[in-house]
Amino acid sequence: MSTAQSTHRVLILGAGYAGMATAIQLAARTRRRSDVRVTLVNAQERFTERLRLHMAATGQDLAELTIPTLLAGMDARFVRGWVTAVDAHTRTVRVDDSRELRYDTLVYGLGSVADTAAVPGAQEHAYTLDSPGDAAALADRLARLGGGTVVVAGSGLSGVEAAAEIAERHPELTVVLVGQREPGAGMNTTARAYLGNALTRLGVQVRGGSAVTRVLPDGVELADGRGVAADVVLWTGGTRVSPLAAAAGLTVDERGRVVTDATLRSVSHPDVYAIGDAAAIPQGYGVLHGTCQSGMPTGVHVGVSITRTLRGRQPRPFRFGYYHTPVSLGRRDAVVQFTHPDDSPRRVCLTGRAAVWYKETVSASPWPTYRRMSRLPASGAYWPRGGRFTRLRDAR
Ligand SMILES: Cc1cc2nc3c(=O)[nH]c(=O)nc-3n(C[C@H](O)[C@H](O)[C@H](O)COP(=O)(O)OP(=O)(O)OC[C@H]3O[C@@H](n4cnc5c(N)ncnc54)[C@H](O)[C@@H]3O)c2cc1C
Repeated sequence: MSTAQSTHRVLILGAGYAGMATAIQLAARTRRRSDVRVTLVNAQERFTERLRLHMAATGQDLAELTIPTLLAGMDARFVRGWVTAVDAHTRTVRVDDSRELRYDTLVYGLGSVADTAAVPGAQEHAYTLDSPGDAAALADRLARLGGGTVVVAGSGLSGVEAAAEIAERHPELTVVLVGQREPGAGMNTTARAYLGNALTRLGVQVRGGSAVTRVLPDGVELADGRGVAADVVLWTGGTRVSPLAAAAGLTVDERGRVVTDATLRSVSHPDVYAIGDAAAIPQGYGVLHGTCQSGMPTGVHVGVSITRTLRGRQPRPFRFGYYHTPVSLGRRDAVVQFTHPDDSPRRVCLTGRAAVWYKETVSASPWPTYRRMSRLPASGAYWPRGGRFTRLRDAR
């Protein structure tokens, strides 16, 4: 609750890659203002390095990154809890069904999870990489298997990274990567061939061209009628977002993401901003698809925009152009596809040790970036704007 009538309450939901960026930017940029109150809500105190959850799923330890520690000394309050409802009319958010938080400006950054509702059985029988707990459960199961087959269902890049990691760490297991698309389908010929050869070298069996239609306790069924027997199924086939935004009456797209204008404000509720995977953000080339590389800039941009509006200025349009797709292939190999701003592949790619170094540098960078931004917020405001690809004709 606001302590004074004039205090502007900014409530940020979700401390993922995007929400953390907004919280740090805002706290750093408003540190001399006593009339702004920043509150960050997240399910866990520990920051989830989603980019590394396939490593955690094979028993590798991740750094202990705690959100309250990073925010210590900054003017931002951390609330640990599960958001259960948003009331956009009364501007309140319920946490754990027991607490109520009020806002003047809401930042919606609840991210996404694996879409286990996509096919029957996935919810009940498949593992996911949604949280450190999910990854730890899979790591435990794999460590106790001693032999057998793991099916990774979903041949997108998360599936590729997970399949490669499991095959490298568990040579005693047969790893089968199943999905509609050829692994690395969005890459150029060189990068795609490199990725395919790396999977073969690691012993990953690829079954492309057929989607998984059902997950069973002992395997998966495919669209072409075949089945693949498995001791463990990992589901990486697409993502879905929280239903909270739709339930609150915010305008959402067909996937439930909050539809924003060019400044990242909800098109239906201008006092709500949406960021990261939970937002449907228009760019000149189409709607952004969820990645960390775009998610962090959306978070920074909203932090800057809210600061501007608090000073009586207008928020600026958000512009972003993709620049790379780094993919780990176990710990000793990787491929990096450099991209045009619309995410289509350039001719240039990195492979082997240089790509391993590049990928590790990217995966390790968010936390030091937040630390740097907490002292020097402007240092986080640099990312490729996308040039001619992102000049909106209709900047609503
Ligand atoms: C295995 C894997 C590998 C990936 N690799 C890459 C990569 O190499 N490069 C890349 O760019 N992207 C990668 N991604 C995608 C990237 O992780 C996401 O795009 C990114 O995490 C989105 O950031 P976000 O802040 O929007 O959401 P998230 O990081 O998902 O954070 C959302 C936060 O909100 C919290 N939350 C959700 N619901 C609630 C609730 N109701 N109450 C309270 N808290 C809640 C969550 O616990 C979480 O802390 C990968 C994803 C996976 C799963």
